Amino acid sequence: MTDFSIFETPAFAVDEVLLKRNLEILSQIQKGTGAKILLALKGFAMYSAAPLVMQYLSGTCASSPHEARLGREEFGGEVHSFAAAYSDSDFDELLTLSDHIVLNSMSQYEHFKDRIAAHSDRIKFGLRINPEHRETEVEIYDPCAPFSRLGITRKNFPDTLPPHITGLHFHTLCEKNSDSLERTIDAAEKKFGELFHQCSWVNFGGGHHITREDYDLGLLSDLIIYFKNKYNVDIFLEPGEAVALNTGFMVSTVLDVINNNKKIAILDTSAAAHMPDVIEMPYRPYIIGSEEADVLPHTYRLGGLTCLAGDIIGEYSFKEPLKTGDRLVFTDMAHYSMVKTNTFNGIKLPDIYYFNSETGKIIHRKSFGYSDFKGRLS
Ligand SMILES: *Cc1c(COP(=O)(O)O)cnc(C)c1O
Repeated sequence: MTDFSIFETPAFAVDEVLLKRNLEILSQIQKGTGAKILLALKGFAMYSAAPLVMQYLSGTCASSPHEARLGREEFGGEVHSFAAAYSDSDFDELLTLSDHIVLNSMSQYEHFKDRIAAHSDRIKFGLRINPEHRETEVEIYDPCAPFSRLGITRKNFPDTLPPHITGLHFHTLCEKNSDSLERTIDAAEKKFGELFHQCSWVNFGGGHHITREDYDLGLLSDLIIYFKNKYNVDIFLEPGEAVALNTGFMVSTVLDVINNNKKIAILDTSAAAHMPDVIEMPYRPYIIGSEEADVLPHTYRLGGLTCLAGDIIGEYSFKEPLKTGDRLVFTDMAHYSMVKTNTFNGIKLPDIYYFNSETGKIIHRKSFGYSDFKGRLS
């Protein structure tokens, strides 16, 4: 059991033992199916883990020139880029950084087609399709929701792949098991089947919760092999969350305990600044040793140290009363948190630790200061 009292707080702490366990599962899928799996940097971009990640995966996928550069410089392997739209300057930069570039509309294709033709010997270009098949309940995470701006629907897609387009990309899932992929493939084939026959590669996007305990790995493998053989294509998957799922912690300290018809503990972290998905998604992160409100004897509302009234993490109960100086450890904080922090209120960004729960080795990777706050302002 890791001793979290030795970390400076607030801090993200990622365990390489847990990360390796996820990477081994992903690697098993790669080996068993011949598909290539890329880390979506959008979800997890801790580049100190890059040497470990790249022992297992084939590269990264990027949503911007900055992510593509991080993938190229720190991770290696292949870099695949996609954005809802590219500016001229972003596209030119991505041409120097990417192995694959996926465009989101026919108008973007038309706009960039000369540059695509000029670089098609070295870069593979693809188009993102929208199979219009919904699997994701939360609308802001559903690229197939009505009026979605993500992907080209069949109605707007030509009957043959345009010149120099060699593959198609779809991304429609969020935290889904492989049965969702099965139904998505079925819907995509009904609409785009003829076009898949013209492809040399197809990218199944992210949102595959491959490293979750109840994930059906056998079905995923069967689907990849089926698709690969039917259309004679290379398959890519680009999960973010599945790479870092359950591998990291947010270690925080109780700063104060107050009472306003409820007991409230204020922490040295913040939902708004350090784990914005708690508010955006929204969800309730788990804290080691806690239960839902009123299950254990002492219930608290936990809040952040910012002045935002809604900077509330949730209500939790504990065996012992909370007091100033106590450590609270949030689990599953590696993905979509470190990449989403901000310096709202000028509060300090969390330190970053990389540790090994088997050997006890701890590397304090980074602490942040005034210059990180000031550097984003002018
Ligand atoms: C968000 C996203 C991913 C990664 O999604 P996860 O849910 O983290 O697996 C991959 N590809 C695209 C295009 C995305 O938008």
